[in-house]
Amino acid sequence: MKIGVLALQSAFAEHEKVLEQLGAECIELRQARNLSEPYDALVLPGGESTVQGKLLKELGMFDTIKSQIENSMPVLATCAGAILLAETIDGQPEQYFGTIPMCIRRNAYGRQLGSFHTEAPVAVIGTVPMTFIRAPYIASVGDGVEVLAVVEERIVGVKYKNQMAFSFHPELDPDVRIHKAFLKMI
Ligand code: GLN
Repeated sequence: MKIGVLALQSAFAEHEKVLEQLGAECIELRQARNLSEPYDALVLPGGESTVQGKLLKELGMFDTIKSQIENSMPVLATCAGAILLAETIDGQPEQYFGTIPMCIRRNAYGRQLGSFHTEAPVAVIGTVPMTFIRAPYIASVGDGVEVLAVVEERIVGVKYKNQMAFSFHPELDPDVRIHKAFLKMI
């Protein structure tokens, strides 16, 4: 099983470590030509969604990845990655891939705008540790979106068709069950 990990910025190496530990092979997607190598699923890591969105377009990677997602390639998105998937970004006129009908609010989770750590249940998986770093939360979801996790009455995890998106960073904690569930989708 080969996973394409978007490797433009920030926390992608940690995803690779977890996925390799679970027996998957990873390839780093750094430029357009990497997108023609075969891979079975996609990871969109955290970072800064505005930077990633801009780079994806400048590097000519945006349209190919969007159509891979629309053509049902399994996707695991964390934090900034979840922002890239949202159909609407609160207070921001543009969106990126827009492949999950949900409205996301950037840098707005809970009382703490910085980082914090908690534990909460994720549907089917159970209670997992959750590290939030300038995280977004999901303000509303559309038809067909399954809510997987809620913290302080805010939605922090969803599944929609082939896509799983989380506000927090499962790759930064030793619990690998979210990545395991992702590999099961493939
Ligand atoms: N604050 C970032 C953004 O708005 C997301 C932070 C993260 O990925 N840890 O894109």
